[in-house]
Amino acid sequence: MQTVSILGATGSIGTQTLDVLRQHRDRFQVGALTTFRRVSELKAMIEEFEPQHVVVSNKQQSDEIIRDYPKVDILYGANAYTEIAGAIQDALVVNAFVGSMGISPTIKAIEAHCSVALANKETLVAAGQLVMAKAKEVGVRIIPVDSEHSAIAQCLQGYEAQSVERLILTASGGPFRLMDQEALQYVTLADALAHPTWRMGPKITVDSATLMNKGLEVIEAHHLFAMPFDQIDVVVHPQSIIHSLVEFKDGALLAQLGAPDMRVPIQYALLEGRSFTTSPYKRLDLKTLGSLTFESPDWGRFPALRIAYECGRLGGGYPAVMNAANEVAAQAFLRDEISFLSIVDIVSDVLDRYQNDPITSLDDIFAADHFARALAMEIVFERGKDH
Ligand code: NAD
Ligand code: MG
Repeated sequence: MQTVSILGATGSIGTQTLDVLRQHRDRFQVGALTTFRRVSELKAMIEEFEPQHVVVSNKQQSDEIIRDYPKVDILYGANAYTEIAGAIQDALVVNAFVGSMGISPTIKAIEAHCSVALANKETLVAAGQLVMAKAKEVGVRIIPVDSEHSAIAQCLQGYEAQSVERLILTASGGPFRLMDQEALQYVTLADALAHPTWRMGPKITVDSATLMNKGLEVIEAHHLFAMPFDQIDVVVHPQSIIHSLVEFKDGALLAQLGAPDMRVPIQYALLEGRSFTTSPYKRLDLKTLGSLTFESPDWGRFPALRIAYECGRLGGGYPAVMNAANEVAAQAFLRDEISFLSIVDIVSDVLDRYQNDPITSLDDIFAADHFARALAMEIVFERGKDH
């Protein structure tokens, strides 16, 4: 039996991961589960999956759980979300936290000799070099959960790195793909949350609307597959059926296709590539699928993608700064404090004021993240006055 811990168990990826585990009761047992606010959902998970450990955010939540489940091992508080990631040696840790708070738990898990099924892309964006190096040093795997990276990993099976010409990430284009620049000024939170093809947590849904999500994924791909930015391309594919492609030196393209359902890449990650077991998820029927279309991303209307490439190429603390500023701005948009177009403006303003400090350790990354957060919050506050 493989032990699986889920960091962020009550979120979109977390609950879908539990759905996959339900299909494979014979292979997996549940190690740790965490929630931030959803105590009643966590209780239902304790009932069903009997985890060894659970983590909540405060004592009041902890007391409530202990009342109903006196035997469960429970921790609470901000540090517990990191500590728990390393609590079980050799477990498989699914990191489904949102934001750069996922960095420390990823490192903790690696240090406990756990492979990490990583949904938390912000970890690789901000600290990709250090995290990948640490995983290599310890000898554990960082397994992609993001559908694009799972698709690329599948297309690369059996091929040598030098036969690859480029990686091609597909993007749905988000809800504003066809909207002109003028109209983008007036879009609302509800508009941004109406993603055309995927149902996801609120932050990544906003990132998908600005196309920052694709920018984050370009940097994620750079670290996961050790591929230079010049060899990573993005194509808009509104149907989200082709999850990504690899182009080889001889011009052949390999694509991975499927209905848009995150449980498929999650299952592939949990089974560490041995995913060719029967699964109950919706199949594609090519005969009724209709057409698949592709177009170039609009770099003018969606500057986040260009910014992400620039930060990725600059390296150092730039990706961490971009990511943290984006987290603050996206959350402010979610609270209706700033307009949609302000999100990327704020990221840009913060980057303009960042002096590239040398990055040699995780503490340097955290300092860059901290700098960007504080500055982005100030700018949000200023902009929020006129919103
Ligand atoms: P979500 O908002 O649904 O879930 C986030 C989880 O993080 C929740 O379980 C919440 O309890 C936890 N969390 C949030 N803030 C916390 C804090 N301060 N302390 C402790 N726990 C906290 O988000 P999601 O859509 O599941 O996304 C999770 C990650 O996976 C993100 O990095 C996202 O980019 C990535 N991802 C998601 C999808 C998807 O389909 N949802 C697809 C690809 C990648
Ligand atoms: Mg994705």
